This record gives sequence, C-alpha cells and structure tokens, in this order.
Amino acid sequence: MNAGSSRFLFDPTVGRRLAEDWNVFITHAHSDHTYGFATSAKKHSTPETLHIYESLSSRTVKNDRTVKIGETIKFDDVEIKVLDAGHMLGSCQFQLTAPEFTVLYTGDINCVNTLTTKAAQSDHCDFLIIEATYGHPSYVFPPRDTIYADIIRWTMTEIKEDRLPTFQVYSSGKPQDIVRLFNVYTKIPVVCAPGISRANSVHNQNGFRLEYLDSSTPEGKRTLKQRGCIYVTTTRGDHLPRKASRAVATGWALREAFRSFTAFPLSSHADYNQLMQFIAAVNPKAVYIFTGYIDIIAAQIERKLGIKAGPLPSHAQTKLIDFPRQAAH
Ligand SMILES: [Zn+2]
Repeated sequence: MNAGSSRFLFDPTVGRRLAEDWNVFITHAHSDHTYGFATSAKKHSTPETLHIYESLSSRTVKNDRTVKIGETIKFDDVEIKVLDAGHMLGSCQFQLTAPEFTVLYTGDINCVNTLTTKAAQSDHCDFLIIEATYGHPSYVFPPRDTIYADIIRWTMTEIKEDRLPTFQVYSSGKPQDIVRLFNVYTKIPVVCAPGISRANSVHNQNGFRLEYLDSSTPEGKRTLKQRGCIYVTTTRGDHLPRKASRAVATGWALREAFRSFTAFPLSSHADYNQLMQFIAAVNPKAVYIFTGYIDIIAAQIERKLGIKAGPLPSHAQTKLIDFPRQAAH
C-alpha cells in the first residue's frame, strides 16, 4: 500500500526481497503471517509477536521496530495505530490514517475473550481489509465456556479409562489457552512438547503463569508415564509411553471429521457471526476480504449490512491497493 511518500506492506505472504525503505507490518506470530520477518525491510510488530517468532524460529530479527497495542507510529502525514486482534498473545490489527482515507487491516481476529486473549477491538474506518477464515453462515461456534467444559469432561473420561489425553495443536496461541484451561479449572498436570514450551515461556515472560512440564525434561518424561496428566503437542509422531487418546481443537471441527481424533470446535478465529458484527461495528465504505469463503461472506455483507464488499485485489502479490482511486468508483 502506498500512502504519502511511504510504502507499507501488511503480512506479506512470501519472503520477498524488499528494499530497506519498505515498512512491513506483521500482525501475529503464526508462521503463515511471519514471512516479513525474513525480509530486509523495516519490520513492525508487537514485542510479543517478535519474541514468539524468535523463540520458535531460533532466529534474531534485524531492522525491527516493536510497537505496543494502543500505540501509534507516525510516518510523515500517515499514522498507523495498533489495535488488539484477540487472536493470540501479541496479535494486532493495523489502522492506517492518511490525509484522504483510513484503512483497517485485521489479520486473523477473534472477537470473544479467551483465557489468554481479550476480544478484538474495532474502530471505524473508510476501508476494511479483513481476514475471514470462517466467513460462512454454517460456522457459528458454541459458547466458549461450553467447549471448555466439553474438553475437560472428555479428558476426565479418558484419564479414568487409563488413556493419555493428547491435544495436537500449533505451537502458539491455542495450546496456551488449553494449558491455562487445565491450570485454572483442574489440578491435572500438563506436559508440553518443547516447541509449545518455548511459546509458553514467552507467555510467562508477559505476565501469564502457565504451569506445565516440558516433555524433554526428566520430570516431564516421568509424569507422562503416570496416569492422570494431559499432553499438548504439535505432531502426532511422538512416541508416548502409554496408550493415548488424541484430540484436535479447531473451528473446522464444526463441519469436518477428523479420523481417529476427537475434535473440539475451539478456535482462535472469529466465527461468521463475530465477523459480521465486527464489520457492522467498523462500518466502512467498502470491505476487502481475503481467506475463506470470500464470495459468500461478501454477498452477506452487501445484503445484510449494505456495505460494498469483495475480494482483496492483488492479494497474492502485494496486497497493494490504491484506495483514493477505488473510493472514487
Ligand atoms: Zn493466526
């Protein structure tokens, strides 16, 4: 995106060669959003996103500028404000204010509170660029507390049957919500695979008190052999010392079957209703959508909210939009 004399790129999707005068903005630490950290451009992210990325990738990022949620960065006549995205620790949205227009770029958002994040913030803008993974009317998640209760109930049953309840998830975001769920509501020991432990440590450095054992430590190994703990991992290839029962936690569980897994619709994304309410609250002149059921949610936005909506142009290349010209149409 060009605004004033500066050039901005949000969550670039490939590790492109970018000149150092580009400003790259990274919304959160999931690997499909962090290609920008590998470029030579100026990198902007929250400190938590940077720390999770560095901790999981074992890399040190250069030419980075961290900015906290709630802060604003100034570039000549353009300002970029950082809003909470509610998706995982450090996840944010970027709200760009240029003299002629305002734009909100969301990345992944989640609009309900979880045990580790607060609901995404919304603010009015002229143009909204939104990632709409579950933007289909059939994706309406049950209340989060109901899913938490289902997870604990399933775990207790599996433990009673002398199986090891094992959750397979990404390294950061949802696993920490699962660890905290068991910390807060049960006394069940939690053992985590090393990749998840690394993201747990970043959470603990940021004020959380996640209690867990790393599976590579003697205590973690000993605990896994005993009855009555749970295991959180990123892969299904671990050699476990006891018979395991496996679970996944993902919004896709609402409509997809996961063979040999128990699937819980615990998501760190907004569901269809949350997306529609978020868009209504932002109330932009136009919505540009990427990821998910783009045509379906675009039609719903136009019909139910009366707001112009469509796919984000040029998304595959650069997410480059000339907003004043689009506004004139
Ligand atoms: Zn994500």
